[in-house]
Amino acid sequence: MDLFVGVDLGGTNLRAGIVDLETGQVLALESVPTLAREGHEAVMRRMADLILGTIASAGFKKSEIKGVGIGVPGVLDLEKGLVLFLPNLPGTWPNVPLQETIAGLIDLPVFLLNDARAITYGEWRFGAGRGVDTMACFAIGTGVGGGLVINRQLHLGIGGTGGELGHQTIDANGPQCGCGNHGCLEVYASGPAITAMGVKAVIQGFTTLIGELVDYDLNRITPQVIAEAARQGDTIAQDIYTLAGTYIGIATANILVTVGPRKVVIAGGVSAAGDLLLDPIRHTIRQRVTIMPVETVKVVLASLNSNAGVLGVAYWASQKLRQPLVESL
Ligand SMILES: [Zn+2]
Repeated sequence: MDLFVGVDLGGTNLRAGIVDLETGQVLALESVPTLAREGHEAVMRRMADLILGTIASAGFKKSEIKGVGIGVPGVLDLEKGLVLFLPNLPGTWPNVPLQETIAGLIDLPVFLLNDARAITYGEWRFGAGRGVDTMACFAIGTGVGGGLVINRQLHLGIGGTGGELGHQTIDANGPQCGCGNHGCLEVYASGPAITAMGVKAVIQGFTTLIGELVDYDLNRITPQVIAEAARQGDTIAQDIYTLAGTYIGIATANILVTVGPRKVVIAGGVSAAGDLLLDPIRHTIRQRVTIMPVETVKVVLASLNSNAGVLGVAYWASQKLRQPLVESL
């Protein structure tokens, strides 16, 4: 066995999994509420307790664990092991020394990685991205995260900031994104963006199943509800997914002509819509990409579900541990 711990720092829950990297199996997985409002010091103590508790309750000794990876939903300084900005957690964690603090509390080597890059790396090594040297991943949920594996290396860019596929400009004159830019993919294809299109259709009084499915309680409209309406033949709901998928397709076309991946993996909660998203993505790239062999590119759904991040960040920790002298971040 080749044992590492993968940790997911989420806005709602902290999750820790014992991962055997020889087999790609998650042997044990535990989770506790993040309770981010208590502040980063309390969250980091809870995370350290969760890591040690998960190792112990799974029946392993700490000495059997080679290292720990932590997936973080935000901007990191990978060189210094700092959290710079977490848009979805209270307090936003400015300049918090997460790597050093956790390493000090649990006495194991610790490495950080952006959560969408962790999903990308997990899907490439163990999931839907297996078998290709170059892959792109869109992680579509509350935001649109992304990542790239290029020539078998997770691409990180400056300080780990490369691979933000959701923040490429799709419409130069589009509305403002949470990142400050205008017209990012995230504005058009995130879970909240899809939900907003469904809410708008109901408010405008269009004939659509979306309203019926939630008894006209607008707060209950989700991307899953809209997908259900689309599957029942609702054309408004189908149009919403076609539009979101077309925008993801435009973004994918940009990646195909710039990076040339052999696979594009669609991950995150919104990917549960399946072909409702994949069909317009595939259609759009065939329409727009002419200067590379687009017919050979596979656009597929992620296969590891919620384990992708834990597996990916554990694998990242193993790679960092084995190449400590390589000066790539
Ligand atoms: Zn943006």
